[in-house]
Amino acid sequence: MSGEVSFGPTLEAVTPRPEAPADVFILPGFVDTHVHGGGGGDTMDGPAGVRTLARLHARHGTTTLLPTTITHPWDRVLAALAGVREVMDAGGVAGGADIAGAHLEGPFISPGRLGAQPPNTVLPTPDLVAEVLATGVVRAVTLAPELPGATGAALTFAQAGVRVGIGHTRADAETVTALLGAVHAVGGRSCATHLFNAMGGIEGRDPGPPGALLADPHAYQEVILDLIHVHPTSFRLAHAAAPGRVVLVTDAMRAAGLGDGPSELGGQPVTVQDGRATLENGSLAGSVLTLDVALRNAVQSGVPLPEASRMLSAAPAASLGLTDRGRLEAGLRADLTVLDRELNVLQVYVAGLPVLEDPS
Ligand SMILES: [Zn+2]
Repeated sequence: MSGEVSFGPTLEAVTPRPEAPADVFILPGFVDTHVHGGGGGDTMDGPAGVRTLARLHARHGTTTLLPTTITHPWDRVLAALAGVREVMDAGGVAGGADIAGAHLEGPFISPGRLGAQPPNTVLPTPDLVAEVLATGVVRAVTLAPELPGATGAALTFAQAGVRVGIGHTRADAETVTALLGAVHAVGGRSCATHLFNAMGGIEGRDPGPPGALLADPHAYQEVILDLIHVHPTSFRLAHAAAPGRVVLVTDAMRAAGLGDGPSELGGQPVTVQDGRATLENGSLAGSVLTLDVALRNAVQSGVPLPEASRMLSAAPAASLGLTDRGRLEAGLRADLTVLDRELNVLQVYVAGLPVLEDPS
C-alpha cells in the first residue's frame, strides 16, 4: 500500500495515498527475540554490553530486542539478567533498540545438544525458576522438554507470561508435543528456539522436535535466516507449515557488525570468516546476522515483502505478547524501519526518535 505515516512517540495516522511516490518502504520496526550481542558487546558483559548491542542492531532496523544470555554458571546468568534489568530501569538505551526484557537461553538445556553453548547446564528446579522470575526481566526462556522438572518449569514460566522456547534438546516428538500442549492449555505462548538448529532433524518415522514444533498449530518458530544456519528450503518449509508464526531472529554474537576476524562466545574463541562464525572444533557458533539482512534473505528466498515483514515485526511481537508494537497502526509505538527499494536501511525510528544521525 502507498501512503503516509505521521507520528510522535506513537503512530498518529497511517493514511493510504495511492498517488504517493513509492520510492521507500516504511515497515514496522524489527523485533529480535534472540540476540546475544553485536558491535563488540554481549549480554553477558552487563549493562555496557547490552547498550552496545542495542545500538548496533538499531542501525540495522531492529527497534525492539531481548538481550539473550548464554549457558554459564548460575551466578553469572543471574548477574547478566540483573544487567538487563539495570538498563531497562535506567530508561533504556538512547539511540538503541527498546529492551523488552531478556531471553534466558539455557542453562536448562540438554548437555547432549549444546550447540555453541558452554557445558554449564542445570536442571530447572522450582527454586531456580523462582530465582529467574524474581529478576522480573525474563520475557522468553529456552529449555529442553526432556529434562526432569521441565514441564513444571514450563508451566510456571507460561503462567508468568514468559514465552516458552523449545531448543537445545534431544527430546522425541511426543515429549515436545506434550509440553507444547501443556503450555497452551494454560494460555501460554511457545516458540521453537532457532528451529532446526541444536535439535536434530525430521524423518517420517521420527519427526523429532522440528516435526513436533511445525505440526503444532500455535507454536511460533524462530529461524536464523543467515542462509548458513538454515537452508532456504527449510525456511520455506517453516513458512508453509506455520504461516504467520515464523519469527526471524539473528542469534547474533558480539562479532556482529564487526566484519571477519577472531571473536568469542561464552568464553570460547570463535573465528568469523566470510560471515560464518565457528568454534575451534568447527561447530557453528552464533551468527553475525542483522535483521535487515534476514529480511533481504527472506525476500530472496521467495517470500513476498509483506509476509517477510510480518516475520520480523508482527509475529515476534505477538510471540512475546507485546500488543503495543509490530504493526503500522495508529496508537501503537512509532517504531519504524525505512528502507530503499533494494531493502537497505535508510532510517530507523524508536518511539519516534531517529537512530541514524546522518542517514545516507
Ligand atoms: Zn542463542
